Amino acid sequence: MPAPLVYATPLRTRFRGIDARDGVLLRGDAGWGEFSPFWDYDDAESAAWLRAARESADHAWPTPVRDRVPVNVTIPAVGPERARELVLGSGGCTTAKVKVAQTGQSVGEEVARLEAVRDALGPAGRIRVDANAAWDLDEALRRLPVLDRAAGGLEYAEQPVPEVADLAALRRRQHVPIAADESIRRAADPLAVRRAEAADVVVLKVQPLGGVRACLELADAVGLPVVVSSALESSVGIAAGLALAGALPELTHACGLATVHLLERDVLDHPLLPTGGTMPVLRADELEPRGDATEGVDAATTQRWLARLARVEALVGSDAGAHP
Ligand SMILES: [Mg+2]
Repeated sequence: MPAPLVYATPLRTRFRGIDARDGVLLRGDAGWGEFSPFWDYDDAESAAWLRAARESADHAWPTPVRDRVPVNVTIPAVGPERARELVLGSGGCTTAKVKVAQTGQSVGEEVARLEAVRDALGPAGRIRVDANAAWDLDEALRRLPVLDRAAGGLEYAEQPVPEVADLAALRRRQHVPIAADESIRRAADPLAVRRAEAADVVVLKVQPLGGVRACLELADAVGLPVVVSSALESSVGIAAGLALAGALPELTHACGLATVHLLERDVLDHPLLPTGGTMPVLRADELEPRGDATEGVDAATTQRWLARLARVEALVGSDAGAHP
């Protein structure tokens, strides 16, 4: 079996407060898997990420029910001109996810960005916003109607507030549908969202939730429409997201998996990007990292990742990829 490969790349646009992305690719009997928890996740929280990587490497993904997945273009907290370019260069995406609530930005800048995105998408496009839990309930109640108007109608607002009870209140008190992301991904009890009727849609990410099968079980338990999104992985991690989106019994919304273009360098010769607004569902053994995938990775970064992998492997144990 090939040794784990450490990759590292700058981002083209600062995103989620980071300007570089790195991780480890693992090869097993079934193909390649990606282990790339952000550095603000500790070893215990990274265990789910490793279970996902081992599942991809060691166990074939569940049989897909569709071979292509509609995806959204992601618009970071950029100016209107850049937002427009991103939509037009998105590979045919008809849904856009626009980041809002960026520290230091005004509502006016968000409005300008949303208007530019609507203009570029046309009236039939769908626009969703993601606030990454940055608002409180009052602020969300003030802002959402403004953003909804600027966008010419929002498909949904993703995690506008951190607390499940406030998501539920927000859902009752205004008409923009609500999606839960952080309340699922970093929650001790992801089903609290369902009990509180706090969301119309749930965002699932394969690595932080422990793998494709774990996500399918969670989707079944939550019983709400699912949007599969990336954790800003290389194409290897994105392929696991596509495997989940491909295997969901129902898929009614575009997924957030078209993020490889945010990386300056990907690990595949043919990075997984949308054409005609959709992306292909592959098998993990169809992925083959480039010979020079580790190019530009310094020895310290490699050591840091291999040490992290060893620590989390020790935590998870030898049954890492087993179906729970
Ligand atoms: Mg989000």
